[in-house]
Amino acid sequence: MQPLTNRVKVLEPKPLNLMERLYLPNILKGMMITFRHIFQKKATIQYPEQKRPFSSVFRGLHVLNRDEEGRERCTACGLCAVACPAEAITMEAAERKKGEEHLYREEKYAARYEINMLRCIFCGLCEEACPKDAIYLSETFAPANFTRKSFIYGKPDLLIPDPKEAPDDFARAKGQIEERKENTRKNLTA
Ligand code: SF4
Ligand code: SF4
Repeated sequence: MQPLTNRVKVLEPKPLNLMERLYLPNILKGMMITFRHIFQKKATIQYPEQKRPFSSVFRGLHVLNRDEEGRERCTACGLCAVACPAEAITMEAAERKKGEEHLYREEKYAARYEINMLRCIFCGLCEEACPKDAIYLSETFAPANFTRKSFIYGKPDLLIPDPKEAPDDFARAKGQIEERKENTRKNLTA
């Protein structure tokens, strides 16, 4: 075939010498490398029994926050959905009725709030966009599953526990949110 440029360099394969034809030295060299790695610290861990510590800015599954009285903070303003580059968030707003003040903090709330975890890229922009301190990314992975539908997380999956029903779980979830806020603050000022 005609070369495209005059910089072509034709290489002739060198014939193998006796040692190379034996292959043994190279096999031994390879085995020595394998043997050396047996005694080195392993890079792998036995997940899920063992878990690595998360980075302070790790972004995992979302949680929807409540206020101290257990009322949902989300007011269905839609800013998180607009900020989401993956179009993973959908919601339906509803008006709070009389007698529902103990459930929802604002006059408007999200009757339906869904995040498609198969679309989500865990960028954290929804958390940054929220003016109501209502959505945070936690240190939890989306668990593996067999159906696509199971990766669409609704309000029951996202809301942190109600303090009236599970005060300890609520306190733990709140503590994690506060820790996240603190880490984000530190990260921004570093
Ligand atoms: S983390 Fe990013 S991709 Fe996921 S829902 Fe929030 S804004 Fe969308
Ligand atoms: S989570 Fe925040 S940004 Fe998203 S709809 Fe609710 S209040 Fe608005």
